[in-house]
Parts: sequence; structure tokens; C-alpha cells
Amino acid sequence: MSCPGTVELGAYVLGALESGEARQVEQHVSGCPVCAAELAELAPLPGLLDRVPRADLAPVGVAPSPELYERVAAAALRPRRRVRLLLVAAAALAALVLGAGATAWLTGEQQRTRSATAGPVEASVTASAEGGGSALDVTVAGLRAGETCTMVAVEDDGDRHPAGEWPASPDGDGRWVGWAPVEPDAVDEVVLLGDGGRELVRVDL
Ligand SMILES: [Zn+2]
Repeated sequence: MSCPGTVELGAYVLGALESGEARQVEQHVSGCPVCAAELAELAPLPGLLDRVPRADLAPVGVAPSPELYERVAAAALRPRRRVRLLLVAAAALAALVLGAGATAWLTGEQQRTRSATAGPVEASVTASAEGGGSALDVTVAGLRAGETCTMVAVEDDGDRHPAGEWPASPDGDGRWVGWAPVEPDAVDEVVLLGDGGRELVRVDL
């Protein structure tokens, strides 16, 4: 099998290929680092689609390569057998690339969950490998009502990466999924900041 196109890989990620075709793609990807890398880039796709209607989730930085959208668009323009299916995949990819209102979700196998308490604030963070970085699923309580909560992923070497920003509920809690361009192993801790940058809690990973 020659390299499947981006849209076909997208259709695979979405579970939209027939089982025989899906097996072919799997077989090919297992022996082709180029396609394996592309597949990793597309991995946030299914969860993104699930999450797009969740209007209460603010956007986070999902960062596919700049040329991804062009590759998808070009592939979608070529006449293909399963046009409708591929258009669905292309639309999904466009949603991924444009990213507005979407939050990356994760199905990674390697996950770590850690919790921490600081004063009234309790937080639990699950880090999973996702799209070449880490998806950070955070549950927090004890914030001020409506307070803006910013998540920062701190790398082993001290580099800080903003991973998302959301308003707390009127009850002062929230559950959000952010993303940072650091693999889970390299995330030392996750810091939640409140209004005015006040530190709410640090969760050691
Ligand atoms: Zn390939």
C-alpha cells in the first residue's frame, strides 16, 4: 500500500473506514514513520469533534503544523471514491486546524493523575500524551465564583507553557482540558493561577 492521504488518515482516526481498509492503514502506518507522524498529528480529532458543541469550554492551543490545512484542502479537492466520507474528514480536520471553541481531548494510554490542595483550593490533574504534547484534564474546586483560572504547565527545566484559561463556575469549581506542547514525562508540575495572577495551587506531576 502506498502512503494514504491526510484525509484518509483523518477518516481512519474518526473510525470512518471499513475494517479492511482500516487494517491496511494500520499495517502501513506501523511501517511508515512519515504516516505515523501524521497520524499522531491527527490524534486529537475525534475528541475535538465531541467537544466542539461544548460552548462552555474556551479554546486552547492546539497546534497542528501550518501546512496541514492546505494538505487537507488539496486532498479534499481531488475526486475520490468515498467523497462524502472524505468531506466529513476534511471538515473535521478544518475544525481541528481552525480550532475555535475546541479543546483537545485525549485517548492516550500513558496517563498520570495527581492531586493537590492549597488552602480552600483542591485540584486534580490528569496528563496524557496527545498530539505531540500533553492534554491536561483538570478538576478544581474552591475558587472564587467566576474567577478566571489560568493553567500553566511547568517543564522539568523550568520553562512555563500556558495550557488554557477558563472562568470558574458560580460555585467556584470547574473541569477543563488544556494542552501544552510538552510530553507528559517532561511536565514537572501544573500551576493554576487566578485573577491577577494569584497562585491558586501547584500540582506536582
Ligand atoms: Zn506512509
